[in-house]
Amino acid sequence: MQHTLNQTHDPAARSWVDSANAEAGDFPIQNLPFSVFRRRDADKTFRGAVAIGDQVVDIAAWASRAGLEGMAGEAARACAQPVLNAFFSMGPSAWRALRHALFAALHERASSRDRAAIDASLIPQAEVEYTLPAQIGDYTDFYTSIHHATNISKLLGLNGVSPNFKSIPIAYHGRVSSIATSGQRFHRPMGQIMLPGEEAPIFSPSRKLDYELELGIYVGQGNAAGEPIHLDQADSHVFGLCLLNDWSARDIQAWEMQPLGPFLAKNFATTISPWIVTMEALAPFRLPLSRPDADGKPLPYLDSDHNSTTGAIDIQLEVYMETAHHRAANLPATQLSHTSFRHQYWSIAQMVAHHAIGGCNLRPGDLLGSGTISGPERSEAGALMELASNASEPVTLGTGEQRSYVEDGDAIILRGYCEKAGFARIGFGESRGEVLPAKC
Ligand code: MN
Repeated sequence: MQHTLNQTHDPAARSWVDSANAEAGDFPIQNLPFSVFRRRDADKTFRGAVAIGDQVVDIAAWASRAGLEGMAGEAARACAQPVLNAFFSMGPSAWRALRHALFAALHERASSRDRAAIDASLIPQAEVEYTLPAQIGDYTDFYTSIHHATNISKLLGLNGVSPNFKSIPIAYHGRVSSIATSGQRFHRPMGQIMLPGEEAPIFSPSRKLDYELELGIYVGQGNAAGEPIHLDQADSHVFGLCLLNDWSARDIQAWEMQPLGPFLAKNFATTISPWIVTMEALAPFRLPLSRPDADGKPLPYLDSDHNSTTGAIDIQLEVYMETAHHRAANLPATQLSHTSFRHQYWSIAQMVAHHAIGGCNLRPGDLLGSGTISGPERSEAGALMELASNASEPVTLGTGEQRSYVEDGDAIILRGYCEKAGFARIGFGESRGEVLPAKC
C-alpha cells in the first residue's frame, strides 16, 4: 500500500510556488516532507509544516483558512501541535489524505481560492527555525550495513562480521535526551580511555571522536505490547525518514563495551535533519533487497517476497566536513564520502518487524537509527574511522588539513536525495553538527 505510485509522484507535476520547480531542489511538489517550525524571533510555539521550494506551509493555519474537512482536515488539525506524535498515530490513510490535499492545493492547476489559502500560510524557510518534530519516546540504533560491519571487523582484526549479523538486524537501545536537530553544537565528550599498552584507564577528552552517517526512521503507528508487527505490514507503521548523525567516541567505546553495549561513547549527541521525508514520497525509489543467495533466507518472520523485491531504497547520501579553516577561508565544506542506502543488508521493514517480535511495543514518534551506512567501495564509508583506516591513512581536506578523527571546531554535514529517471528528484535537506572543545 505504501509503495503504490499515484499522481503525487508524477514528474510533470509543477507547483505555482516557483521555487519548488527549481532544478535539483530538495523540496519539489513531489516531496512534501514534514517538520515542526516557528518564526525565528516572532513566534513562541512550534507547529507542523510541510516544505515546498524555499517556503514552509503552516499546515494548521492553511487548513483553517481553506476550511479543510474530512480525514485531511483532521490530520491537518493534529499538525497544529508542537510535536507530530498525534498525527503519526493516525496512520497511513490520514498521512496520505493530508499529503494529497496539500499536493492539490500547491499544484499549478489549483483553484485561485485554494491558492489563496496556502499563499497566506507560506513562510520563507530563511525566517524560521526547527526543533524535534516528535516527542521521541525511545531511540534504538541498528547495525545493518554489511559493508560497515565488514570494514569495522577488518580494522579490529576480527575474522569477518559477527556470526549473528546475517540472522538478526542487530541493535542497542540508545539515548533520547541528547538528540537535537541540525545546528546542534556540543562539547567533546570526556570519559575513560584505555590507552594501548597501559594497565589503567585515564580520564580524558575523547581523542577518537567520529561521526556515523545514518538514516533516522520515525515510527508512525505503534503496536500493542505482545502484538508482533508482521513483516509485510511493517512499512505501514513507518511515517518517514530523516538524516541522522550518531556521533561516536571510539576510544571511550572500546573500553566501555566489554561486555555490554555502547553507553557514554554514544549518549552525548545525535544530530538529525528537521525534515521527515514520508514513505509515500520515497515509493518510486524502491529496489530489491540485495541479500546474496549464498547467505540463505532469514527466518520466516524476517522473510517475504514483498520485502525481498521492494525492501531497499535508493537514497543517495553524502558526508561533508567543514573545519574552522574552511570557514575562515570561505571555502566550501570538503565532501568526505558518497553512498546509497540501497546497499543496506536489512530493510527498514525487517528492523521494525524484528524490534516488535519479542513483545516490545513501539510507539508513535519512536526513532530508529539505521546503523552506519557504508557502501561496497572505500569512498562510500559512513564513518571517519573507516575512511581513514583506523587513523593509518588520514583523509586530506580541501584546505590541505588532514583528519583521522573529528577535531574541535569541525562541523559534519549530512545530505541526502533520491534521483531516478522518470521521477522528480527529492531531497532531505541537511543535518549539521559542530564539535566544541571539551569542558574539562
Ligand atoms: Mn550508530
